[in-house]
Amino acid sequence: MHSIQEIFTQLHTPKKVVITTHQKPDGDAMGSSLGLYHFLIQLGHTVQVISPTNWASFLNWMPAAKLVLDYDRQTATADAAIDTADWIFCLDFNILSRTKRMEEKLSASNAKRILIDHHQEPQVDKFAYGVSDTGKSSTCEMVYDFIIDSGNDDLINEAVAECLYAGVMTDTGSFRFPSTTASVHRMIAHLKDKGLSHSKIHENLFDNFLENRFRFIGNVLLNRMEVFYEYNTALIAIPQQDLIKFNIVTGDTESLVNYPLSIKGIKLAAIIIDRGEERKSSFRSKDGFDVNTFARKYFNGGGHFNAAGGQNKEPLEEVVAKFITAMKENKDQLSNYQF
Ligand code: 5GP
Ligand code: MN
Repeated sequence: MHSIQEIFTQLHTPKKVVITTHQKPDGDAMGSSLGLYHFLIQLGHTVQVISPTNWASFLNWMPAAKLVLDYDRQTATADAAIDTADWIFCLDFNILSRTKRMEEKLSASNAKRILIDHHQEPQVDKFAYGVSDTGKSSTCEMVYDFIIDSGNDDLINEAVAECLYAGVMTDTGSFRFPSTTASVHRMIAHLKDKGLSHSKIHENLFDNFLENRFRFIGNVLLNRMEVFYEYNTALIAIPQQDLIKFNIVTGDTESLVNYPLSIKGIKLAAIIIDRGEERKSSFRSKDGFDVNTFARKYFNGGGHFNAAGGQNKEPLEEVVAKFITAMKENKDQLSNYQF
């Protein structure tokens, strides 16, 4: 993988560009994709954003979100865009399997794949150019750096600013996580100077849920959460029938894992959701427990040191049993914790 700086000089030659991201894109995945989209179209490129799957409706306010293709539902149109692409930007993921059904098409494409990502252990041989930096708060911060470093500060307009703000804000837990560096705050100050209205974005993202989601959360916290004090660990396991009963849709379960993490003393929080086709897990930790390694080792996953996820094909009860075994195997690290 060559440095992304090597494409700076080519940015002024119009190209056919596809931008893609990980399945079930979150604020950072969608924000970085659409932020980059609004930047590249100003340079005369023909750009198509493709999401491997559907996404939460609370992301639909983002400028041009309605132009994003859902690979699951619009496969033929998306395949045609991939077939003719010169460049495929891969944002907020670094292993092609995170694009699910799109992986095969992406691997076979003759386009140059360009990585912009902040997760650990990138598949560097899959990308012609790229930047991978686990020290970055978000992929949106990296897209911002890409725009600035390529000398295009003047192309940061309202649409770019709104999309990039959404991703930085959500990936830093509203500027709370240790990844929120001074540079992040300087970036946001710069976006504000460019006219960004941030309050509306918080409202769009956090005040747009339906009542059923809160009834569901009530049920989850009352009936589906178990706390293992001896291990400073809490687990939520959600059977598929709960999702059906409460009409849960994509995005409704996002950030639920943060509830158990805010219990006093909890060092590892996990949520395992039976999505029918797979059991999807999310892990969050505080301080020294590395959930990226944990997710890779036991749950076919990965991510960051303090936030990771995975997926399993086994039934929910087996994945829960696996989690409990894994927790016990990590007892030394989990229980040696001073409050
Ligand atoms: P979340 O729990 O919010 O789905 O994901 C937490 C972090 O781990 C995100 O940065 C996400 O990209 C990453 N992640 C989630 N699931 C997986 C997975 O199955 N494989 C890998 N490699 N990373 C994942
Ligand atoms: Mn991210």
